[in-house]
Amino acid sequence: MSDIMLEIQKLNKSYRRRKIIDNLNMTVYKGDIYGFLGANGEGKTTTIRMITSLIKADSGDIIINGKSIKNGKNEAIKNIGAMVEAPKFYENMSGYENLELMAKIMPGVSDLDIQNVLGLVGLKDRGRDKFKEYSMGMKQRLGIANALLGDPKLIILDEPSNGLDPYGMKEINNLVVSLAKRCDKTFIISSHLLHEMEGICNRIGILHSGKLCIEGEVRALINDNKVENLEELFF
Ligand code: ATP
Repeated sequence: MSDIMLEIQKLNKSYRRRKIIDNLNMTVYKGDIYGFLGANGEGKTTTIRMITSLIKADSGDIIINGKSIKNGKNEAIKNIGAMVEAPKFYENMSGYENLELMAKIMPGVSDLDIQNVLGLVGLKDRGRDKFKEYSMGMKQRLGIANALLGDPKLIILDEPSNGLDPYGMKEINNLVVSLAKRCDKTFIISSHLLHEMEGICNRIGILHSGKLCIEGEVRALINDNKVENLEELFF
């Protein structure tokens, strides 16, 4: 069995003749916490939207746990749970009710599963509170709980610490590390903050001009002084 969870091959995407993603190749291994980095506007969300099949690529392939989205989109994306941009929940419903609504379109997700994911993100005792009463960090954690529903193998979080203060950021990052360990998941986390990702990811890829200008083990990149030289890409 392959140890690759996600493979992106020669992916391309343009908007109104402007090339956003340009022959992108990317490899995420099973068990990785993979930091998908890049400055604002480099195309991280666009890539994630293609991986999750929210939009179509112009060309190229995306293979998730051995299954190409070209030859069976539904089969491939059932391996993914994602939080893309700010999660959209109903303000006047509780966290539990919001997840219950999401679960309606997912076969086989039970009440116990919902309780379980709420527990995993530390919202067990707040599940019955209305979403509008949640702090920003709790809202993000509910988004992560939603991504965990259905027990997918690959969890993709698009800028999960966006809008959070340093304490909230740390809380979300600690949660990702503990979920990866406890639940045997592979994570892709997008961010424009290189130093934030260095601390929690084992591998990173940096998106620049539509491709990864660097991809590899964080430790090896730091040892080779490759990361420091890339700081300028983020401004
Ligand atoms: P950020 O961190 O700011 O969200 P990002 O790396 O996720 O940045 P994207 O949101 O993928 O970047 O956007 C990449 C580029 O594509 C931007 O210039 C954006 O304006 C453009 N873009 C994204 N979606 C569309 C669209 N639907 N139509 C036209 N241009 C788009």
